[in-house]
Amino acid sequence: PPVELPIHEAVLGRAAAFGDRPALVDGTDGTTLTYEQVDRFHRRIAAGLADIGVRKGDVLALHSPNTIAFPTAFYAATRAGAAVTTVHPLATAEEFAKQLRDSAARWIVTVSPLLETARRAAEIAGCVREILVCDSAPGHRSLSDLLAFDGPEPRLDIDPAEDIAALPYSSGTTGVPKGVMLTHRQIATNLAQLEPAVPAGPGDRILAVLPFFHIYGLTALMNAPLRQGATVVVLPRFELDTFLAAIENHRITGLYVAPPIVLALAKHPAVSGYDLSSLQYVLSAAAPLDAQLAHACAQRLGLPPIGQAYGMTELSPGTHVVPLDRLHDAPAGTVGRLIAGTEMRIVSLDDPGKDLGTGEAGEILIRGPQVMKGYLGRPDATAAMIDTDGWLHTGDVGHTDADGWLFVVDRVKELIKYKGFQVAPAELEALLLTHPGIADAAVIGALDDDGNEIPHAFVVRHAGAGELTENDVLLHVAERVAPYKRVRRITFIDTVPRAASGKILRRQLREHT
Ligand code: ATP
Ligand code: MG
Repeated sequence: PPVELPIHEAVLGRAAAFGDRPALVDGTDGTTLTYEQVDRFHRRIAAGLADIGVRKGDVLALHSPNTIAFPTAFYAATRAGAAVTTVHPLATAEEFAKQLRDSAARWIVTVSPLLETARRAAEIAGCVREILVCDSAPGHRSLSDLLAFDGPEPRLDIDPAEDIAALPYSSGTTGVPKGVMLTHRQIATNLAQLEPAVPAGPGDRILAVLPFFHIYGLTALMNAPLRQGATVVVLPRFELDTFLAAIENHRITGLYVAPPIVLALAKHPAVSGYDLSSLQYVLSAAAPLDAQLAHACAQRLGLPPIGQAYGMTELSPGTHVVPLDRLHDAPAGTVGRLIAGTEMRIVSLDDPGKDLGTGEAGEILIRGPQVMKGYLGRPDATAAMIDTDGWLHTGDVGHTDADGWLFVVDRVKELIKYKGFQVAPAELEALLLTHPGIADAAVIGALDDDGNEIPHAFVVRHAGAGELTENDVLLHVAERVAPYKRVRRITFIDTVPRAASGKILRRQLREHT
């Protein structure tokens, strides 16, 4: 059944009972916030926000890298009735301004190192009433100033079914990022749906290196562990040595990562220099993860097979996960099983009205209480995504096996049509990564001289792995796939452009062609 609670209640409802257990630990300097503090602070700050004029329905932009203050700022804002739009901390002033204007944000909460960008963005956007900071900066109110406010907590009628709690923007992998309206009920219900599969309790220590601003981090690294009394160790960005040191020093038990981190854990020499024996599981989501790579990573770390989850911003975000107690017997490469209270169909790409059977790949459709309310201000885009029967068209291609495990092939839009055959970039990328001389790779559909679509690989050479020629790469693929799947063109590059959530930014690669 849907959870009819505001998100701050759904997450922090038991915070007082968890008392002085550590809720959040700064992975760099060890500063700790207890559950009691997060609970008290977010209530006081909510009261302070109401006092300075935050009203129910206002949009507040939270513009910060991962810090231990981030969750408190988020829950304070929702308790004050605001809808929080989370902002990429590396957004340019122009990008940030677009999001501010699109969401008509009235408030910004930022951190002092990002203040200049926030100021410029607010100036361009023209809709922002005040910029606050989480830490401190001259001329700006800070969260600690609000903490000192001793007035009453705002008494608001939040309607979990209707009111927007979060307004994250989709990653913009396939087009311009869209503001996704997620109600309190949608997010709270999805947390409850996922929880039995990935329980975490007091004693579990989760490392939060993926960004809180993205729905994956917001859910897996913030809402879910804090709801269950686990400890979240926070890092502001992914840097391999700091990440590995944090696992060792904080005795991290669970990791939620994206495929590039699995790649680093599987391949990077630095990994063997750290004691990672506290780790019990690794879960990956947000982009296709190759089964062989996952296997190599788990083997190297001496862990159970790496699990996956599947979702998207528009799904609050989860629909599938490999339950932690099924890591050993889930088939390799699966993104998981459908969670409770959710329906799925897989329909033909050629004939969208036709449902497909077990083993047949088609577009994944989802219906359930976690389907977004819609895209902000874009009824046409919403209607294109969610049909009149309530089915959300994910744009992803997948198939299930006889036991209901889902396998995601790739996005419909990314499939390369080579002479009438469909080639999934994710499959070729995985294959490229099995070459010892290749550090990273991305594949897109490009046009050859005759105007036919062909697989074009962008390859990053492994430092110190000797000379790797175009021919080596072409051959490596040609020897392992059916002829129509062969890579037809190679460009060597220094790094594969990726979004903060780990997704390959194929748009940027297309500009190279
Ligand atoms: P935009 O919609 O703006 O183009 P985006 O789709 O990348 O950006 P997100 O909502 O962050 O934005 O990502 C959701 C997408 O991530 C899914 O549609 C799917 O393609 C991909 N994805 C998520 N989990 C997995 C997974 N386990 N395996 C493969 N792909 C995944
Ligand atoms: Mg999308």
